[in-house]
Amino acid sequence: MPELVVENLKKSFAGNAVLEDINFTVNDGEFFTLLGPSGCGKSTTLSCVAGLEHPDSGTIRVGDQIFFDGDPRTAVPPESRNLGLVFQSYALWPHMTIAYNLALPLKLRKVSKAEQKRLVDEALDKVDMLHLRDRYPHQLSGGQQQRVALARGIVYAPGVLLLDEPLSNLDAKMRDQARIWLKSLQREVGITTVYVTHDQIEAMSLSDRVAVFMHGRLQQVGTPTAIYETPATTEVAGFIGRCNLLEGQIEEAPAEGRTVRVELGTTGQRLHVVRRDGAHEGQNVTVGLRSERITLAGPADVADDGVNVLKATVKHCSYTGARFEYQLSLGGLDIIAESPIRHEGEEINLLIRPEDCLLYPTTI
Ligand code: ADP
Ligand code: MG
Repeated sequence: MPELVVENLKKSFAGNAVLEDINFTVNDGEFFTLLGPSGCGKSTTLSCVAGLEHPDSGTIRVGDQIFFDGDPRTAVPPESRNLGLVFQSYALWPHMTIAYNLALPLKLRKVSKAEQKRLVDEALDKVDMLHLRDRYPHQLSGGQQQRVALARGIVYAPGVLLLDEPLSNLDAKMRDQARIWLKSLQREVGITTVYVTHDQIEAMSLSDRVAVFMHGRLQQVGTPTAIYETPATTEVAGFIGRCNLLEGQIEEAPAEGRTVRVELGTTGQRLHVVRRDGAHEGQNVTVGLRSERITLAGPADVADDGVNVLKATVKHCSYTGARFEYQLSLGGLDIIAESPIRHEGEEINLLIRPEDCLLYPTTI
């Protein structure tokens, strides 16, 4: 199957820039996710790929076929792009059976009756809905309707599948199950997929690669591991997972050293952090510290060599079942940490490995 290439995409609505210079390539068979907070431009990007919106400028192509090259007059119309579309609202025709809902796009493509039935049944079978082919949409649960919507998205073997928050209307448990079958379906069909979501868990668990969107710009494109372990910016670090962002200044940056020493603002505490290119003494920095990478210890516990020990006080501890979540004060700075065990007492030590600290130059 072909790759999807989006280059220098720009889009504004009534003078407001919504997309600014978006570039990405989705490889053959890849599950690629656009992730970002609500309103950052994910759906607009998808609509441009689908041809439902025209960008102000930029190029969109699938394989050798150019969908858009900057001129709306030569843009390929949506129905000629051969894309599978699935949205949050299932958009099934209520007065038609499930089988007929799926046959409709085939009818439009002038597929023969016999072939229609074969393809419809094959697609329904893929999503385990074949036994409900003659029901009407209102006779199905939300999760089942979503499966049908997905089957309809793949029934005519589109080149690329576009999914916009398809699981958002399902309750939490169903969403977990739907994630699992969606992923295995995508693997089985092997279709190049662009998935839009604001849900980082969905993005991380489903995707081969994730593009993190903020305010109409791509902040980072990478594997889920790369996005989580080495976020490109403090915004990405802050958006994915739970990350404390602490302001400080580099006090010491020995030329040959593996780490630099950061003084954390007004807390009077110091943290050794694995150095990053360009780090130098006197530099204002932000240190990212994921809540689950902080180990909590009693004041008398001893830390391994090279591990930072910071002193904090407990402000609040809440029990979530799987773990305890702590709100702590680090010399006046509020931070959050997680622990599998409950610690008594107000004074607590934070054990932090230098390699678990993310270091960013502070941008003003
Ligand atoms: P997301 O899908 O990431 O939540 P959208 O792409 O839907 O974000 O929207 C991005 C921005 O563009 C938002 O500020 C939204 O209000 C605006 N927007 C989207 N579609 C239109 C439109 N048709 N007319 C005007 N503004 C729009
Ligand atoms: Mg959206």
